[in-house]
Amino acid sequence: ADDLALDPWGSSTVSDYRKLFDEFGIESFEDVLGEIPNPHYLMRRAIIFGHRDYRRVLAAMRDDEPFAALSGFMPTGDPHIGHKMVFDEIIWHQRQGGDATALIADLEAHAARDLSWAEIDEHAKDYLLSLLALGFDPEAGTLYRQSENRDVQDLGFELGIEANFSEFQSIYGFDGETDVSHMQSVVTQMADILSPQLDEPKPTVIPVGPDQDPHVRFARDLAARTRYFGVTEAYASFEVDGDDERALLARAYDALRAPDADETVRCVDAADWLAGADREADVDARASVIEKLEAAGKEPLRPRVRFLDRNATEEAFEALIDAVDGEKRVFESHIDSFDMGRGAAEALAREVEVDHGGYGFVPPSSIYHRFMTGLTGGKMSSSIPASHISLLDDPEEGYDKVKAATTGGRTSAEEQRELGGEPDDCPVYELYAYLLAADDDEFAERVYEECRGGERLCGDCKEQAATLMREFLAEHQEKRSEVEERLEAADIELES
Ligand code: SF4
Repeated sequence: ADDLALDPWGSSTVSDYRKLFDEFGIESFEDVLGEIPNPHYLMRRAIIFGHRDYRRVLAAMRDDEPFAALSGFMPTGDPHIGHKMVFDEIIWHQRQGGDATALIADLEAHAARDLSWAEIDEHAKDYLLSLLALGFDPEAGTLYRQSENRDVQDLGFELGIEANFSEFQSIYGFDGETDVSHMQSVVTQMADILSPQLDEPKPTVIPVGPDQDPHVRFARDLAARTRYFGVTEAYASFEVDGDDERALLARAYDALRAPDADETVRCVDAADWLAGADREADVDARASVIEKLEAAGKEPLRPRVRFLDRNATEEAFEALIDAVDGEKRVFESHIDSFDMGRGAAEALAREVEVDHGGYGFVPPSSIYHRFMTGLTGGKMSSSIPASHISLLDDPEEGYDKVKAATTGGRTSAEEQRELGGEPDDCPVYELYAYLLAADDDEFAERVYEECRGGERLCGDCKEQAATLMREFLAEHQEKRSEVEERLEAADIELES
């Protein structure tokens, strides 16, 4: 089970992906593959193997609704072919119409990995250049550096109010020795993940390796905790007295508890307003709310709907309208605000002269890709140059590294002809599947079948892969120099 310790800053490998489904509730990607009109080859080849809540994103894609994709890169070394997968995933979502964001996690690199600012500066630009060279559109998308993004830092501060140290302990294993900036970099990262929704709540996908899942789960929790947005005192005009009030509230509670309001609806928080009660009082506390109403004996009551939960469906609000038919107009404006983003909620709040409350974030979704095996076997690691191919490697060096890679071949050519090779255990085959065959499934399958059938021998196979790698690197690096100007035009602060 050691292999399953999901540590975003560790070097753990994941040996059995199926266990992730059972133990961490990651769902199989295969189940949603059929719902994607033109899946990326990483999806088709099951390199993207799992997801959380990705259907929400697919539904938005299908219905032409807004959605977002975001990934962060810690500039700890050169971008390598493992990062290319994530670049490709972001770019693919951008091409499907998503708001795409790539960020440089420099605060995290500084706090969690002890990188100096000079080292960070050196690498930050390299990540973005490769991203653009692979097809990211900087004009349509968003690029930023954590340390330069004030909105993200502000959001991180707000999210920090909802997080506490014992959660950091249980999620990340932080202890008394963990430095405060590392913790701060975590809330910053949570803010990164939710930042595409600052203007407008929308489904957001985070493409990651499974070791990053703790971040995804935490961000989903924080999204739920800050989901409300207050349009509260829009209801202040809603005045009735005594008994009517109680009856009205009782009906409103019932309506809001409609069966398809799938999470706790923390909405009609009249108790909070009335008696300064715990703001977590939710609909389950309905009975006590009624009691408090009676105990408080305030007349006349001016109930307000304090927190709206986006998951309380529109039908629930329709039911609410019916329940409070005398105040239809008020509750219709309520429904309008229900689908608003923070910007709109703020505007409405200004109009009625109150503070807005929360954010209305949709819990972020995620997709998980397999890790590439290192060329020397074991994990592909930025700190072991021979294990990976950097996107900045000289094409000849890339060629040489592939030629020197371990394979899933047999001990002799005879044996290989007889038994066939083992592409499932071959880093060279992975290069074909993850990168070199690109969109050509037929080619990737041919390599696989020929290897399995013993028609393909490792020497020739590596020669072919090495040549393709050399071409890929040469082409990629040429594109990098072409896009440099575009990156400068995108005007993001790359130097600290
Ligand atoms: Fe790997 Fe190619 Fe050898 Fe098969 S033939 S084991 S794919 S290097």
